[in-house]
Amino acid sequence: MQAVGVIGAGQMGAGIAQVSATAGYDVLLTDVTKDRAEAGKAGIAKQLQRQVDKDKIDAATRDAILARIAPVEGTGGMGACDLIVEAATEREEIKRAIFADVGKVMKDGAILASNTSSIPITRLAQATPDPARFIGVHFFNPVPVMGLIEIIRGLATSDATVAAIEAYAERLGKQVVRANDAPGFIVNRVLMPFINEAVFALGEGVATIRDIDLGCQLGLNHPMGPLTLADFIGLDTCLEITRVLFEGTGDPKFRPAPLLVKYVEAGWYGRKTGRGFYDYTGAEPVPTR
Ligand code: NAD
Repeated sequence: MQAVGVIGAGQMGAGIAQVSATAGYDVLLTDVTKDRAEAGKAGIAKQLQRQVDKDKIDAATRDAILARIAPVEGTGGMGACDLIVEAATEREEIKRAIFADVGKVMKDGAILASNTSSIPITRLAQATPDPARFIGVHFFNPVPVMGLIEIIRGLATSDATVAAIEAYAERLGKQVVRANDAPGFIVNRVLMPFINEAVFALGEGVATIRDIDLGCQLGLNHPMGPLTLADFIGLDTCLEITRVLFEGTGDPKFRPAPLLVKYVEAGWYGRKTGRGFYDYTGAEPVPTR
């Protein structure tokens, strides 16, 4: 495998392009426009510059990595890619349209992977040219820092496809965990009920934002509390994944906390909107309750 196509040049797609190019793959990066793909590459250049400034890589390495990333218009040029990773917006109709498009140019034997956080792989596979060569490859944010890839096998995913993705992950230096195609896979299946329960506790007046976060951080030895983490991920994303768990299992234990719904309805999505469980507009985050 030598050429990797990445569709979607947002925070995840850019990260996937960066780690793939760092591992020596030639990368074609696309988004809704070539300008957005160029912007994704510019973001990667900034990231790499920070590593140069910290003496983690030298300027020649930075240039070699960037030279391997080509922003392109659309997916038409991805016929030469051995692996195509879709990391576009988490909306099923968008992903389906992308698969239909890229399916027209994929070469024989090439693998198509989705970085979806929550949409069932077996269902998405129906929109791809060959479900045996379709797989979930769930990276974590920020991609260059996080050492894990969750591999999700759809009902029809072949052993050869799993093996090829494991080899790709190994070349990226990432550890792999394997999940079957069930709502939330492994990590979000466990994490989202934790975050959701923290929001229930807040809504029921069990404790303040500060005390819920500090209690979990120090009491569980986590790097940050669940409400801080939810603000990082995005409360809209947390709600979306919790709904997938609730609807996908039909189990009431996954029902979204009403206060989480309220924050999302208020447009308080966390860090990306400047306000979630904390207000980020000042020098230090300040709890909103
Ligand atoms: P993002 O909003 O930063 O980026 C999405 C990109 O997709 C945008 O640049 C958008 O312009 C582009 N896009 C939309 N429609 C497209 C199309 N038709 N063709 C090409 N590009 C298109 O979002 P993100 O956080 O990078 O998430 C991308 C995917 O990764 C989603 O499926 C998300 O669930 C998944 N994911 C996100 C995280 C996370 O922590 N943010 C973690 C794991 C997986």
